Amino acid sequence: MKIICIGRNYAAHAAELGNEVPSEPVLFCKPDSAIIQRGNPFVIPTFSNDIHYELELVVKVNRLGKHIQKSFANRYYTEVTLGIDFTARDVQEAMKKKGLPWERAKAFDNSAFVSDRFFEVSALSNPILFTLKKNGEVVQEGNSALMLFDFDAIIEEVSKVFTLKIGDLLFTGTPAGVGKVESGDVLEGFLFNEQVFSLRIV
Ligand code: MG
Repeated sequence: MKIICIGRNYAAHAAELGNEVPSEPVLFCKPDSAIIQRGNPFVIPTFSNDIHYELELVVKVNRLGKHIQKSFANRYYTEVTLGIDFTARDVQEAMKKKGLPWERAKAFDNSAFVSDRFFEVSALSNPILFTLKKNGEVVQEGNSALMLFDFDAIIEEVSKVFTLKIGDLLFTGTPAGVGKVESGDVLEGFLFNEQVFSLRIV
């Protein structure tokens, strides 16, 4: 399986990092080795002093497809959950300045947390509201209606570039409010008011 991520998919988040709103989705990938194994904490890597959380809705692909039209895109997933696109912001800023790829900042081991509790999209209210708490305080509040490219548009765009396979995960971008994690922090994700995960930072 592969992990495909969308960058700058919420205008307020693009603005908080000083980035322009993109005219087409910003795409990057994480390898399957990036996934945090079930029950493990996030371990801050030694090569960064500024690891950020990015809470995101994560869509699971359930059908093989390529060049999928937006009007058919909803046939290619049924489930969604919450995940965190951990980002070495200091490394990413250095890479951006040099015009270099982001893998060192975005694709390292443990950089992809995905809750193991998936939810049927059709059973959720629309728009989907989601929240991240750090040490009990709300730090990010997301609303899927604010995505610049919605799930179906993402699938259309991504499948122009990558063949989608069963089990692939799509990180759909983070809302505003990203910030640093420190050893000892606890991150909790909520879909509407239901807690979906709790993750320790060490
Ligand atoms: Mg992200």
